[in-house]
Amino acid sequence: MKLPRVVIVGAGFGGIAAVKALTRAPVEVTIVDQHNFHTFSPLLYQVATAGLASEDIAPNLRGIVQRARNVEARMARVHGVDFDRHEVLVDHGVSIPYDYLILAAGAVSSDFGVPGVAEHAVPLKTLADATRVRSTVLRRFEEANTDPSLIEGGTLTFVVAGGGPTGVELCGALGELFTKVLAKDFKNLDVGRGQVVLVEMTDRLLGGFSAASQAEAKLELELRGVDVRLGVPIASVGPDKVELADGTVIPARTTVWAAGVKANPLADALGLAQATRGEIIVSPDLTVPAHPEVFVIGDLAAVQRPGGEPYPQLAPVAMQAGQHVARTIERRARGKRTKPFHYTDKGIMATIGRRSAVAELPFGIRFGGTLGWVSWLGLHLVFLIGFRNRAVVLVNWAWNYVKWDRGNRVILSDPE
Ligand SMILES: Cc1cc2nc3c(=O)[nH]c(=O)nc-3n(C[C@H](O)[C@H](O)[C@H](O)COP(=O)(O)OP(=O)(O)OC[C@H]3O[C@@H](n4cnc5c(N)ncnc54)[C@H](O)[C@@H]3O)c2cc1C
Repeated sequence: MKLPRVVIVGAGFGGIAAVKALTRAPVEVTIVDQHNFHTFSPLLYQVATAGLASEDIAPNLRGIVQRARNVEARMARVHGVDFDRHEVLVDHGVSIPYDYLILAAGAVSSDFGVPGVAEHAVPLKTLADATRVRSTVLRRFEEANTDPSLIEGGTLTFVVAGGGPTGVELCGALGELFTKVLAKDFKNLDVGRGQVVLVEMTDRLLGGFSAASQAEAKLELELRGVDVRLGVPIASVGPDKVELADGTVIPARTTVWAAGVKANPLADALGLAQATRGEIIVSPDLTVPAHPEVFVIGDLAAVQRPGGEPYPQLAPVAMQAGQHVARTIERRARGKRTKPFHYTDKGIMATIGRRSAVAELPFGIRFGGTLGWVSWLGLHLVFLIGFRNRAVVLVNWAWNYVKWDRGNRVILSDPE
C-alpha cells in the first residue's frame, strides 16, 4: 500500500517536533531545510558572546532523523508551492510532491523601516548572524587596541536595539564578556571604556513578563554596566552612530538589531492570506483555508482564534503546533475529524547573566536570581537536541562558570 507523503518545510522547532511525532506514523516524511542543521535559537546570544561554538547549538539534520526509517532529510531552499499539483518547489527547478504539507519556515529579522538598519546593523536571528556579531565585537576591541583614539568615535560602543529576551540576554552576556574576559585579554587597553547601550522603545524591558521581573532585569543589567534607555525608539542607524527619536546621538560603530521579526518571505510568495507581520492566516486546526492538506505552524502562522490574542512567537508554541499537526494527519488517515489547536502555556524565562534569570510559571509563580538561572540552564539543556550537543554545552558552561572564561573568542568573518 502506498503511504501518504508528508513534506515539512523548515527544520526549526516546529518542523522537528512534527517529524519526531511522525516517526512511527504510517506516512513517508520528507523534511526540507535550506541548511543541513537545526538552529537552537535561544542560545544564539551565547555564540555571539563567545560562550559556545556554532556547532554546539546546531545539530546536523541528517543526524537527527538518521534512525527514523520513514524520514528523509533534504537540504534545499524552498521558493514556492504549487497547491494545485501538490508540489513544493525548490532550487534548480526541482519539485517535491506531497499529500500533506507542513509549512514551518519561521521568521526573519525585521527592520520596521528604520533607516540604516539593513545597511549598518547586524541582526541576531541565524547562526551566521551570531558568528558575525561575535567577530564584529572582537574585531572592535582589536581595532581599539591598535589605535585607542578610535574609542571616541564609538569603536567600543555597542548598541543593542530591542529590550525583549534576546536583547536583554545579549546585553548581560556582553557586559560580562567585557569586564571578566576581555579586560584580561587586552592588557594595554582600558576595556572599561567599552559600553553596552540597550535601547527599547517601550517604557519597560521584557514585555510580556511581570513588572517585578522587568524591574529585576533592568537592575541586573545596570549592575553589569549596561546603559538601559527606555521609552525612546531608534530613529536611524549609521556606520558610526545611532540616532534616537528624542534627538540623542550615540557614537557607535556596532549596532545589533534584536528589535523584532516578521514572517519568512516565503509566505509572500505563496499567494495566501497574511496577517500584519506577514504570517499566513490559518484556521483553528492550523490548516490553510481552501487547502485542508496544507498546515502552517510556528512563527510563520497566524492562528485564527475567536476573541483570542495571537499566540506568541515562541519555541514551545511551534513545538506544540508541530505535534498537533502530526496527530491531525494520523487522525485524517483514520478518517477522523480534526481538532482545533490549543497552546498549553508552561511559562516564560529569560536570563540576564551569571546566577541571574527570571522565570514565570502559570498560577502567578515567579522566581529569579540563582534559582531562576539554574532552572533556565536545566531547561535549555533538556530542550537541546542530541546527547553530544547537551554534553558539550554542559562542559562549556561548567568551564565558563569555574574559570570566568569564554573559550570561543574567534574572529571568523572578514571585516565589513
Ligand atoms: C535570538 C533568538 C532567541 C530566542 N529565544 C527564545 C527563547 O528563549 N524561548 C523561546 O521560546 N523562543 C525563543 N525564540 C523564538 C523561537 O526561536 C521561535 O519562536 C521558534 O524558532 C519558531 O519555530 P519555527 O519552527 O516556526 O521556526 P524556526 O525555528 O525559525 O525554523 C525555521 C526553519 O526554516 C528554515 N527555512 C526558512 N526558510 C526556508 C526556505 N525558504 N527553504 C527551506 N528552509 C527554510 C530555516 O532554515 C529554519 O531551520 C528566540 C528567537 C531568536 C531569534
